[in-house]
Amino acid sequence: MGRINILDPQTANAIKAGEVVERPVSVVKELVDNSVDAGSTMIRIEIEQGGIGMIRVSDNGIGMDEEDACKAFLIHATSKIRHIEELYDLSTQGFRGEALASIAACSEVTLITRQPDKDSGILVRYEDGARKEVRETSADIGTVVEVKHLFANIPARYKFLKKDSTEAMYVVSLVEKLAIINPDIAFKLVKDGKMLLATPGSGDMLDTIYSIHGREVASMMVPVEYTFGDYRITGFAGKTDCVRGNRCLQYIYVNNRAIRNKTVTAAIDEAYKNAVMKNKYPVCFLSIYAAPGQVDVNVHPQKSEVRFTNETDVFRLVYHGIRNSVFAEGDADHKFRGIRSDDPDIDAQSEKTTRFAVNTSVTEPVLPGQLKYNVPSHSTVTPSAKEVEATNQMLKILSEFKPELDDITGKSETIKDERADNIEEITTAPDIRTVEDEPETDITELASGRVAGFLFDTYIVVQSDNSVFFVDQHAAHERVLYERFMARKLNETVAEEQEVLLVPQIVDLPASDYSFVSDNYDRFRENGFDIDVMGSRQVAIRAVPMTGSRTKPSDMFTAILSDLKKEVPSKDNVWYSLIQTTACKAAIKANDRITVDEAIALIKQLSVLEDPYHCAHGRPTFIKVTRTEFEKNFKRIVC
Ligand code: ADP
Ligand code: MG
Repeated sequence: MGRINILDPQTANAIKAGEVVERPVSVVKELVDNSVDAGSTMIRIEIEQGGIGMIRVSDNGIGMDEEDACKAFLIHATSKIRHIEELYDLSTQGFRGEALASIAACSEVTLITRQPDKDSGILVRYEDGARKEVRETSADIGTVVEVKHLFANIPARYKFLKKDSTEAMYVVSLVEKLAIINPDIAFKLVKDGKMLLATPGSGDMLDTIYSIHGREVASMMVPVEYTFGDYRITGFAGKTDCVRGNRCLQYIYVNNRAIRNKTVTAAIDEAYKNAVMKNKYPVCFLSIYAAPGQVDVNVHPQKSEVRFTNETDVFRLVYHGIRNSVFAEGDADHKFRGIRSDDPDIDAQSEKTTRFAVNTSVTEPVLPGQLKYNVPSHSTVTPSAKEVEATNQMLKILSEFKPELDDITGKSETIKDERADNIEEITTAPDIRTVEDEPETDITELASGRVAGFLFDTYIVVQSDNSVFFVDQHAAHERVLYERFMARKLNETVAEEQEVLLVPQIVDLPASDYSFVSDNYDRFRENGFDIDVMGSRQVAIRAVPMTGSRTKPSDMFTAILSDLKKEVPSKDNVWYSLIQTTACKAAIKANDRITVDEAIALIKQLSVLEDPYHCAHGRPTFIKVTRTEFEKNFKRIVC
């Protein structure tokens, strides 16, 4: 007798179940997918004990007749596909026809369903993969599937479940994701009898984001809409200060499915490069639509990862989708957000009324020259070969966008020139003026204001007609210097703006610094340092870049070295790190007392920059409080 046995259907289904159903959240996903496919406008999800005790998903969709309600539990029973060809052209969520069969194989399932034109419904009950009951019953229109005692019959799997609270957390975050990509469906999630989440089902993704993640997040979202090749992206991306410490609030969907994909996250990072701080991840809800054949969803058993036919196009899609919206020109608004009078919990938090928050979005036309270089996103991080490759890929992509770049540059140059004509007037007038015909942005408004004073020897207070600005003198000056150094590097001009020292300053360096300076002698020279590397670990500084810095040149030089040492840049990035660090070390510091004239000059310089909104490390250069916000905070106006 041979050794090979054919497994009985019950055992085969239990094995199969393991692939589809890993934990409670997988059951919820399959059931909600079915409810979505059934055209529901309301889906209610209830769980007990993290879903291990009970999961109930109720919908108001098309329901099933008796025949289908029974067939639905058979393996490979599906109403969604008939032939293999249809596999690649699918708009529905489920298509393997094995979810209900698998769930029934590892739990007790009761399905009650009623079609809209019927007076009564059907109940089908399964235990241990075997059908126990089919009968007519009274029911609401739609379908209710109740799953109890998950894996009670498969101890090997039961063992792998986590704490109830952890399993519940998985379910909650799944439902949040599903609700956002299905804004026309009103979702309710009830955990152990408590309503955790309810979305309006208004069809508006932003309403749904608001109902799940609150007003703060919703108010910082910018709509994204972009098409590239066979791909299209829609959704919302956060302004640059809407960030989290991890990627938890970066929702990515492909053809309405929540997925993970490295190309997409790399494109998000690249789009926000230099505009958000290190280790911060912008919040975004992005939905990508791929034409049939342009995406393979079957690379992962739970279909949570996908492979795109053309990853480069997807990178371009996401990168430009975000850049064009979040970084659209004239869209800058750095705001102060105190507690507003329409805040529901205003009384409870009244002592927090002076809470500062910065709301930034930027105007950052891409410098065409900048693209010639491999600019690392965070100068202090030594990029891996992979990152370098990703950046190079991005640069290649961007260079193909020549016409667009030319447009941008053309525009920014005109603005610059107009402003340059005004410089005389600005220097002589006590007020900082702006150009008339330009659309008002935060920076033009700031430039039109007058210096009203200083705070803590660090912030310049500028008042315009309707707003007050707080400018961080260090961040602003750092940006001015950074862009000046970058422009010099990009134009490949030698540093003519040097401050030549009357007597060269000799500095003694530790061996590591000495060899760093020797190795990168040319980089230092390009960056405006005239130095001589001498014997006995000594360096003579003859000239430093012209920065207006008050710091002693030798101190600046050693400060730059010690900063670079914190995380030594890779060879290719030394020039960039040097620019960034020199800008930082040469800039006016916090606690340096500056004069009104110096403040005016600084704001004037800031106002003509490509990106006046962020320092070289991505922090804001200024924040804005409107008169209305003041008045709301003082309860002069209520709304
Ligand atoms: P699939 O979704 O892959 O087709 P399932 O096992 O999840 O496979 O479901 C089998 C079939 O049962 C579906 O194709 C659908 O016709 C029907 N069905 C399941 N859930 C529902 C529901 N909530 N409303 C209406 N029909 C449903
Ligand atoms: Mg299904």
